[in-house]
Amino acid sequence: MSVLVVGTVAFDTIETPFGKAERILGGSGTYIALAARYLATPVRVVGVVGHDFPEAHVDLLRKRDIDTEGLERDPDGETFFWAGRYHYDLNRRDTLATHLNVLATFDPVIPEAYRDSKIVCLGNLDPTVQAKVLDQIASPDLVVLDTMNYWIEHTPKELRRVLDRVDVLVINDSEARELSGEPNLVRAAAVIRDMGPQTLVIKKGEHGALLFTNDTVFSAPAFPLEDIYDPTGAGDAFMGGFAGHLARTDANDPEELRRAIVLGSALASFVVEAFGTDRLLDLEASDLEVRIAAFQDLSVIPDMSRSLAMPSA
Ligand code: AMP
Repeated sequence: MSVLVVGTVAFDTIETPFGKAERILGGSGTYIALAARYLATPVRVVGVVGHDFPEAHVDLLRKRDIDTEGLERDPDGETFFWAGRYHYDLNRRDTLATHLNVLATFDPVIPEAYRDSKIVCLGNLDPTVQAKVLDQIASPDLVVLDTMNYWIEHTPKELRRVLDRVDVLVINDSEARELSGEPNLVRAAAVIRDMGPQTLVIKKGEHGALLFTNDTVFSAPAFPLEDIYDPTGAGDAFMGGFAGHLARTDANDPEELRRAIVLGSALASFVVEAFGTDRLLDLEASDLEVRIAAFQDLSVIPDMSRSLAMPSA
């Protein structure tokens, strides 16, 4: 089943306590597509780059079976640029620069061949742009959206309008609290689900992710890795893995949603092992199998029936 990915295709400069990388390939759309393509086909990308974006980066995506017909090149501007510095606690980062460049005037035109896409992943972008994309898709089966504090604070009305058209919202815990005005995540989930998305995924960085649907909550761990170099793009890869699984299975019942969360977490766990997209480029099927098995081991709760008896008086 087809996956349409809309997001930034970017240059990133990243500093972590373990090193620095300058103007490397990044962007929410890039990470989502690179993760989704392990699970689904075709994966189609809509975005914009500038005159300075090397053709080699586009080739890198194409060689990994990602359809780039919808990746527009604006010859009059420069590519979106983001710079960030992570703290010693890698859950914390400072944004040092965000240069919208060609993104400032981006008006997405969805190629004819993409308009029948069934799963639509709206990566972190201006909600007005996200809505324009939805306007052009004939009848998506599932719309998955990511956003960030900036849009929650600066364009709340536009965000609420697009949320009403979304099936799954994937955000982090601080964004969930801010969007709902509720400090408690369970209550926050109820408030957000009333805004439109029937399924809500709350990412908690190294503490895993929570899935809220109807009356059920599911918790998936993050993999406890020994070597973490760069968390950039982990959230986006999570979304790509999540959507890719639902596209592959053509289902979104509670069981498949749970599997999707685990696959999203697994793909995110690879991203952080190297700078930028490096670790996400050439995973083998066996890498994913081994990691999923490790995830399963991590979360097995043994039979508790013999542990419930209270001491008799
Ligand atoms: P994540 O670590 O999942 O938040 O995603 C990081 C990626 O998002 C980087 O590759 C950036 O290029 C991209 N990014 C950073 N800021 C923004 C923004 N304001 N809008 C869209 N994409 C962004």
